[in-house]
Amino acid sequence: AKATTLDRICVYDPSMDLAARERSALAMDMRHGIGAGEFELYFQQQNDTQTGRTTGFEVLLRWNHPTRGLVSPAEFIPIAEKTGLIRELGDWVLRESCREAATWRVPLPVAVNVAPLQLGDQDFPKRVLAVLVETGLPASRLELEITETGIIADQQGALKVIRELKSYGLRIAMDDYGTGYSSLSMLQLFPFDKIKIDRGFVSGVSTNRHSAAIVRSTLILASSLDIPVLAEGVEVEAELDFLRLAGCAQVQGYYYGRPMPRAAIEDKVNGAAAS
Ligand code: C2E
Ligand code: CA
Ligand code: CA
Ligand code: CA
Repeated sequence: AKATTLDRICVYDPSMDLAARERSALAMDMRHGIGAGEFELYFQQQNDTQTGRTTGFEVLLRWNHPTRGLVSPAEFIPIAEKTGLIRELGDWVLRESCREAATWRVPLPVAVNVAPLQLGDQDFPKRVLAVLVETGLPASRLELEITETGIIADQQGALKVIRELKSYGLRIAMDDYGTGYSSLSMLQLFPFDKIKIDRGFVSGVSTNRHSAAIVRSTLILASSLDIPVLAEGVEVEAELDFLRLAGCAQVQGYYYGRPMPRAAIEDKVNGAAAS
């Protein structure tokens, strides 16, 4: 894909770790930024491959730093996890996401990312429930996206948390499917309601036969397990066509829309446009 201005601002090489001092400076800025309203929710649509209709939105966090400008979550989320700040930030994202979704006239679901540290907290389900009650969002409209790293440290604890969350009626999606070490055993152990195939397998699916084989077999596996699949990072029509033909029901990616601020998705959530 062509690099746009947004790409240049957001791209960050995770292998190039920030110096420790830089990290703690960012952590301090972050703590201050939460209270100062520097964080903002962006929403990226998810679409049905058959009809093109919008089926829901994933919430992606953005940080408008007063001097650094827009800082990518790929940069600040790992710092928030290391410092434990993700608890505060994660609670804030969850509450604001539910509050926002509760105002939509079209009752589309909202998907919120949950960090490993949040999921490892046995009180997390109770806090989620409190947010649902407080905001009035029906549990059926909330989807929580978790990754393998969120469950490997303490599988029994994670299973307990996930079961409790599901008992409220919300859904659990497995994010970044295929990037972990044991994605397959995760499917066996945990009752996921959705699998999100990682962008790494989706981009180039129409040209790379290895990616195509991995995506195809994931779709067959998921279908025999009765788990719906969403493919992430769909940028071009050829990828969408491949996925639709292979039986993938949902996609998310720049092809249908980039993550956008709440004002920009108003039409879709308030019924002015059907797709
Ligand atoms: P993720 O959960 O896998 O989110 C998908 C990422 O892919 C997002 O990057 C999104 O903007 C990007 N993306 C979507 N479609 C396309 C596409 O067609 N092409 C390309 N090149 N990229 C696409 P983003 O917004 O920079 O977020 C990066 C990661 O930061 C997320 O990956 C997630 O792991 C984390 N993150 C973002 N917001 C939150 C949050 O509120 N809480 C937590 N715990 N993590 C978050
Ligand atoms: Ca996600
Ligand atoms: Ca993902
Ligand atoms: Ca990811």
